[in-house]
Amino acid sequence: MSDTAMSTSEAARKSEHFDVVIVGAGISGIGGAWHLTRQCPEKSFVVLEAMETFGGTWHTHRYPGIRSDSDLYTFGYRFKPWVGAPIATSAEIKTYMGEVIDESGIGPHIRYRHRISSARWSSAEKLWTLEGIREDTGEAIRFTCNFLWMCQGYYRHSKGYMPQWPGMERFRGRIVHPQTWPEDLAYKGKQVVVIGSGATAATLVPAIADDTAHVTLLQRSPTYFIPARNANNLADTLREIQIDETWIHEIVRRKILFDQANFMRRCMEEPEAMKEELLKGVRAYLGPEAEMDPHFTPTYRPWRQRIAFVPDGDLFRGIRAGKASVVTDEIEAFTETGIQLKSGKTLEADIIVAATGFDLNVLGDIAFEIDGEPLVFSDTVTYRGMMFTGVPNMAWVFGYFRASWTLRADLVGDFVCRLLGHMERKGARKVEVALRPEDEGMPLRPWIDPENFNPGYIMRGMHLLPKRGDKPEWQHTQDYWAEKDEFPAIDLDDRAFVYR
Ligand SMILES: Cc1cc2nc3c(=O)[nH]c(=O)nc-3n(C[C@H](O)[C@H](O)[C@H](O)COP(=O)(O)OP(=O)(O)OC[C@H]3O[C@@H](n4cnc5c(N)ncnc54)[C@H](O)[C@@H]3O)c2cc1C
Repeated sequence: MSDTAMSTSEAARKSEHFDVVIVGAGISGIGGAWHLTRQCPEKSFVVLEAMETFGGTWHTHRYPGIRSDSDLYTFGYRFKPWVGAPIATSAEIKTYMGEVIDESGIGPHIRYRHRISSARWSSAEKLWTLEGIREDTGEAIRFTCNFLWMCQGYYRHSKGYMPQWPGMERFRGRIVHPQTWPEDLAYKGKQVVVIGSGATAATLVPAIADDTAHVTLLQRSPTYFIPARNANNLADTLREIQIDETWIHEIVRRKILFDQANFMRRCMEEPEAMKEELLKGVRAYLGPEAEMDPHFTPTYRPWRQRIAFVPDGDLFRGIRAGKASVVTDEIEAFTETGIQLKSGKTLEADIIVAATGFDLNVLGDIAFEIDGEPLVFSDTVTYRGMMFTGVPNMAWVFGYFRASWTLRADLVGDFVCRLLGHMERKGARKVEVALRPEDEGMPLRPWIDPENFNPGYIMRGMHLLPKRGDKPEWQHTQDYWAEKDEFPAIDLDDRAFVYR
């Protein structure tokens, strides 16, 4: 018997069936499991996770200073109060997730080191068959399920996005990516250049500035930041007067979301005034002599890219103290000892950190087939950014860019549980979304409007993502404030849902 035949029959023998399979044990997958245990306690389920533990993003990223860039009152689940400072370290987020797992008994449902590589839907059997390997033993694994809940995130965990610059091979120092931060990276007393201007660069620079000889943030163009005290006054007051943490969580969430809605509305309606306000916030930390232009004055209007919160303005305090500096320029080439810039200047470096972002990873690098045909995901149309035309019994959690991801993970959690209950009552074993007669001729556009939001990883990967239509039900609107009311009101008997 060949090795392949052996592993196939071995896998077949070990095939296990669950009502629901959740792929991924990040914040979305653990949230999904929590919703299932509470809202569909009769459904059997398993969470399959490629890595050795839960956390997803918060396990993968281990660079110095790694922390959230949005507040944990809204990045935390709606069902578990957050009791710490608004901006949290990855260790704190993992502790919080660990408590959710322990308190709800989800632990035994999670299989770690289980990487799924293929998912095949059979309309005859009304089943998904998932195959993959165990990362620790190399053993083939097989699961079948009625419903597949994709919580695999949106970027490739194994490796970050590394642009190729001329002369990289010449550089005698180390080039690293924050997503695969080497544990042995000795940056003490070294000249470090961090390429990038996003939340990762803004976190990393102050975290290493005290130890390095100098750290330079090299950016092509600046980003907006919100520097402020890492505290929530309302939460502090409510705690002082001994309000219950469950209430504090709900009240503070509502206040933050109310303020964010105002902030976003103002970014759309009065972008110039908002720009001035944001720049003023940065200037307050940098001091009056700071060179705001070009280093801290973005050319785009606020909110076209995610705005990172900078707790206690640590990045700007480091720059003001001279421990870190910012260079706004473009890379001509790497040299043996650093970077040659297009302006003609050079930056000497022992270590270059490319905080250049992610590689979009649609559907977790899983080869999907629907009734024997490979699924071309970009040919599908999205139903509210969570289901896809022609893909039965499957939901995907893709959170918000402008609000905390988990707000949507909770909304999708409610939706999936309601859908599963509806199918049960109808006796349906298959549900699929399909364009309705009234959608005929609807123009189909890329997943997201680049005029509205345009981070690099989305722009690089847009061709891989499903299409959107021009009605809210056929878009991922990125609007939490509308979806929080729309999702619970979705009519599951609308013609967009086709049951068998
Ligand atoms: C450094 C950093 C900071 C961020 N900060 C914030 C923030 O403050 N606020 C915010 O809203 N968002 C933030 N984000 C976005 C963040 O990724 C999401 O908010 C959220 O953590 C995503 O959770 P997730 O569970 O959907 O996906 P992930 O965290 O990506 O987890 C997906 C899991 O699925 C597993 N998986 C993937 N494919 C497979 C497969 N084929 N088989 C088995 N398992 C698989 C992965 O191993 C991983 O554990 C941040 C992102 C980064 C990178």
